[in-house]
Amino acid sequence: MQVGRVVAVPSPSWIVVLSAPSGAGKTTVVRALLEREPQLQFAVSHTTRPPRPHETPGQDYYFVTPEEFRDLVEREAFVEWAVVHGHFYGTSQAELRRILEGGKTPLLDIDVQGAYQIQKRWPHGLFILLLPPSWTVLEQRLRQRGDLTDEQVRRRIGQARQEVRWGWMYDYWVVNDVLDEAVETIEAILWSHRHRPGVGPMRGRVPEIPE
Ligand code: ADP
Ligand code: 5GP
Repeated sequence: MQVGRVVAVPSPSWIVVLSAPSGAGKTTVVRALLEREPQLQFAVSHTTRPPRPHETPGQDYYFVTPEEFRDLVEREAFVEWAVVHGHFYGTSQAELRRILEGGKTPLLDIDVQGAYQIQKRWPHGLFILLLPPSWTVLEQRLRQRGDLTDEQVRRRIGQARQEVRWGWMYDYWVVNDVLDEAVETIEAILWSHRHRPGVGPMRGRVPEIPE
């Protein structure tokens, strides 16, 4: 496993991390969640993988060359970074700062290696692992996406089996079987988390009760 160094960045009051094996439906769930939870803002990652046809640079990812990525690593621009499926991915300090300065809660769609680095830095974050209902359905969804060869699908399934072994590290597991139910479950988790004084946005505050 190759992971990046965790560097200093102002501590966010709250951060939400969503991980899932490739094909489990993370992109779909994140899109639905952002429509229903305006307080959340998607943290756009940097990556060296080529854009997919429907992806918009600066919106889905900041697409960069390996040289540009390495330069950013050297300048300690990332709060976490990792190699996933042979490409570099990272969350930049600048991206987190942009979201926090706008008064929003960052939603990070990152893999387990990245989640591990973020958890070391901000253990009070909310860590959710999205799971497929079965390995058969995961394979179907990967094929349905239509951008992978048979060999790549096989490798992603193998990788997914490894990734779920890190499941203990997350606060919640959500199965993405029926899309609306998965999204509603995550909303319920967010709602519950917002009422916990020890973690999330209430951390370190005392109750404010109007006179
Ligand atoms: P990921 O971002 O995790 O790789 P995607 O969101 O691209 O996964 O989803 C993979 C495929 O599965 C897509 O074709 C998507 O439409 C489909 N999909 C996602 N969630 C569901 C669901 N709950 N039920 C049925 N199909 C789904
Ligand atoms: P995809 O290329 O399919 O969009 O994403 C592949 C994997 O990389 C997914 O598991 C996704 O969560 C992860 N990923 C996306 N951005 C980042 C990032 O900034 N850091 C890390 N560690 N993983 C990321």
